[in-house]
Amino acid sequence: MHEMSIALAVVGQVESAARAAKGDDDAAPTARGVTLRVGELAGVVPDSLRFCFELACADTLLAGAELSTETVAGRARCAPCDADWATGLPPDLCCPRCGSGASELTAGRELEIAEVRWAEPARVTTPEED
Ligand SMILES: [Zn+2]
Repeated sequence: MHEMSIALAVVGQVESAARAAKGDDDAAPTARGVTLRVGELAGVVPDSLRFCFELACADTLLAGAELSTETVAGRARCAPCDADWATGLPPDLCCPRCGSGASELTAGRELEIAEVRWAEPARVTTPEED
């Protein structure tokens, strides 16, 4: 189950960031939401990932956190002629300018955490002005 191992890895990364951020006397911050950058060629099904993420978050600092995904379009560059194009889906890796197949993907396989939204630390009092 590809998406489950990704979800577990994301939860693990956010948890270690939370532990690293906390002071000795503080409770570790909890996460409210995580945004993932997912390349359209990464082979990840966002709905399935969201489902697995919910399961992976149970009993962690991310319990109840929401997962959002940003899709990154696939792009390729041709080694011989330096053309650069959107691969589309399924990816077209044959150069539209010179027809060479010697291209490399430059985007579209991303699978990384773009943003973590932390719960606001509880404040005892907030002065109000009016
Ligand atoms: Zn080319």
